[in-house]
Amino acid sequence: MSSFLVSGKLVDITARSIYPATVKVNNGKIESVTPDNTVPENAPFILPGFIDSHIHIESSMLVPSEFAKLAVIHGTVSTVSDPHEIANVCGMEGVDFMIENGKTVPFKFNFGAPSCVPATIFETAGASLDSADVHKLLQRDEIKYLSEMMNFPGVLFKDEEVMKKIASAHQLGKPVDGHAPGLRGEQAREYIAAGISTDHECFTADEALDKLKYGMKIIIREGSAARNFEALADLLHEHYANMMFCSDDKHPDSLVLGHINQLCARAVAKGIDIFKVLQAACINPVHHYKLDVGLLRAGDHADFIVVKDLVDFNVEQTYINGQLVANNGLSLITTTPSAIINQFTCSPKTTADFEIPWNGETEIPVIEALEGQLITNKLILPPAVENGKMISDPGNDILKIVVVNRYSGCTCGQSVYPQLRVKERGTGIISGA
Ligand SMILES: [Zn+2]
Repeated sequence: MSSFLVSGKLVDITARSIYPATVKVNNGKIESVTPDNTVPENAPFILPGFIDSHIHIESSMLVPSEFAKLAVIHGTVSTVSDPHEIANVCGMEGVDFMIENGKTVPFKFNFGAPSCVPATIFETAGASLDSADVHKLLQRDEIKYLSEMMNFPGVLFKDEEVMKKIASAHQLGKPVDGHAPGLRGEQAREYIAAGISTDHECFTADEALDKLKYGMKIIIREGSAARNFEALADLLHEHYANMMFCSDDKHPDSLVLGHINQLCARAVAKGIDIFKVLQAACINPVHHYKLDVGLLRAGDHADFIVVKDLVDFNVEQTYINGQLVANNGLSLITTTPSAIINQFTCSPKTTADFEIPWNGETEIPVIEALEGQLITNKLILPPAVENGKMISDPGNDILKIVVVNRYSGCTCGQSVYPQLRVKERGTGIISGA
């Protein structure tokens, strides 16, 4: 690989300084960073690349290589990614697919071992991963951590399988990600004391402060489904050393517009110190997850970005291992069609499959979706009834919701469970974790 120079105003995040410099890249690594007074005043800024500290690539509806192609435009060089959505469908084969497809492009994916497949015992999943499977995954070098331990009651009640999964990660020196929306006080302390070191589910500052107090790192989530940036961003003033940014779920229409760079711009616009913002966006994930991502120091992998300013964070160039992967909004990553894996065997459904006979009940449970949140409320409301059947009630924004078993080709109606209803407020979206 060739040797080349990049000049600009270098942002040294940990030293909290910005100075004119020339970076020499040789064979994919940073050979030197040299102060350079010939760099013009209006030169762009050079800084380490952005990292999404918790994102399910599957939610982008793209395979990893295609995700990377888009993300690098916004200066993202790496993600910490839980493949639990595909593992829910295809098991170990799904995790393998993500790792292998990710390797086909110059981008630093860091996959975790899904801790909760299926997510709950109420789920009809396509696969399940037990503690032995998780142990096997954690032994692999490509697997960097045990991903979000959603079964927090299982942790609090010391469920044997749950504790085995956590113990495997600890034994192998890999961090354990948390997922405990709303957990507070003593229960939060116990959950964290089990060796779970991050949480991306806080939706109030008080909850985040509770968890920070017990030594947990807080990942500010702002994605397509859940948006907690406004509630948590001001904590960066004081707690930046223990915070990161993530999307969790990012749909392709919003990934096209921006990624972690947008969160940096919003945080800076709120008056948060630029170095604190960048520490959360670029540095903390590398240290916490021990990522093989360079931080712009001599000897590091040449993973860095060039941005026009530190206000909008419009990315001019993205380099990964010394390779220019995005240039002025154009991705230079090329992809090839990937193999297809799946195991859906769902049969066609008819209107009759979705009918709910009315048995005379005057009250039914309704799920209330909350704008920008994954948590929901339970309401008890009267049903709308027509010709002996419960029907959707769009006037009150109450719609039918059904669960269809996508792993069953059964046409007898057993695969459809039209029992629940949802009341949506605004554009609330119900999503996985
Ligand atoms: Zn998640």
